[in-house]
Amino acid sequence: MVKLTFYGGVNEIGGNKILLEDSGTRIFLDFGMSFGTANMYFSEFLQPRKCNGLGDFIEFGLIPDIKGLYRQDFLKHMGRDYEKLEVDGLLLSHAHADHASYINHLREDLPIYCAEETYAILKAMNDTSAGSFNDITELTRCFETYVNKKGELSRKTAQTHDDVVVERDFRRFQFGSEFKIGDITVEPYPVDHSLSGATGYIIHTSSGTIVYTGDFRFHGRREKESLAFMHACKSAKPDLLLIEGTRIDESASKTEADVEDEICAISSNSKGLSACNWSIRDTDRMLSFLNAAKKMGKKLAISIKQAYLLDQLSKCSDTLAPNLRDKDIQIYATRKSWGLIGSSSCDLKIRNQDYDTWERPYLDKAICYKEIKENQKDYLMFCTNFDLKELIDIEPIEGSVYIKSVCEPFDAEMELDWERVQNWLSHFGLGVSATHVSGHASGGQLKTFVEEVSPKTIVPIHTENAKAYEKWSNRVVCMSLGQTFNM
Ligand SMILES: [Zn+2]
Repeated sequence: MVKLTFYGGVNEIGGNKILLEDSGTRIFLDFGMSFGTANMYFSEFLQPRKCNGLGDFIEFGLIPDIKGLYRQDFLKHMGRDYEKLEVDGLLLSHAHADHASYINHLREDLPIYCAEETYAILKAMNDTSAGSFNDITELTRCFETYVNKKGELSRKTAQTHDDVVVERDFRRFQFGSEFKIGDITVEPYPVDHSLSGATGYIIHTSSGTIVYTGDFRFHGRREKESLAFMHACKSAKPDLLLIEGTRIDESASKTEADVEDEICAISSNSKGLSACNWSIRDTDRMLSFLNAAKKMGKKLAISIKQAYLLDQLSKCSDTLAPNLRDKDIQIYATRKSWGLIGSSSCDLKIRNQDYDTWERPYLDKAICYKEIKENQKDYLMFCTNFDLKELIDIEPIEGSVYIKSVCEPFDAEMELDWERVQNWLSHFGLGVSATHVSGHASGGQLKTFVEEVSPKTIVPIHTENAKAYEKWSNRVVCMSLGQTFNM
């Protein structure tokens, strides 16, 4: 018999953590953070403590208390006994935090199955993000000691002992070929989403076939992939469809191609700098900005973090992402620490110390505020809320614009952030224009998918309105948190 237990991803957008059990085989579908619950208890300045291992997360139900799943260093530090691995794998749909970020808590020997591009993005996150819970592709064992040269007890760190850093067991698959985890057979399909590597799955179990959509849409650069997935799902005649419904109440949206055109229209009308904000890892959107820049004879300035991401993606056998060597891409180094970038008199070694080790290889070819300041109308510049500080040095000229290419604020914290951003923009006299499409399918697209695939049963996930699926099917089962569905 097959059982699915929903430890997240039901009656909320994100936080997918679904345990699928088929006789002896147990796998998780995604292991992400629930933003809703996490934001109820934690904020930027009120963070879970590493010193309590998993305790702070379990306290508020952010992760389920399951045996044989979590990293031993945390469990041991919490005073728990040794556990053996009791889960056979994690099937990842994509690299967004609400699907992947609690990988940090998992054992290093738990096999993680994902697309090559998903791994590339996770690797970039692992290597370039700060924070206490960022052991995504490699795990640094904590709370270990050693006897130092003086005969005293010392704490082991990644700097003193490279053996505390262990690679996680990632199994990168190729699309187009199936694989097995225990008794389960898995067929991965690429789907269109606001991030490379997004995957939909057809899963064959002893009680029938399950489709897991992950997050998907039909209006981006990979619409054909989503359509091919839909046709494969239809042929598979699934018994159960786990389908996202983020935008089930919203009607048709623009396409990514429309966004590209709108960027051109906005930027070509501006007489100064175009400061552009989009989701940092959305390389499909980056491509829209790059294509727009090319059409206008401008250049796209991206961040060092994005350059590192493009380098990782370039290792994948097949990727849509822009090429870092494209002559119309420039890498932009922000001023930080001593802020020496761009000063002609400083020693390069001293300048490099302003940056993390992974950033340094990019510095010699990077541009900084000086180049943009002199040539403002020639640039589309990637500018997140954290990069607004650069405007102080750039001094945007009259006629500069801010292109907002992210979703609208959907909670109080984001509203506040956006108010602050607007203060900066009005201080520097930047006009604001918005152009964006969502990474999620609209109501109409979801309806088509459900009608085409015609599954025996539908369990809506990743939505605040699961019941809306009942308009299109009388076989909808709405699950609640922690509940088990028997197939
Ligand atoms: Zn997503």
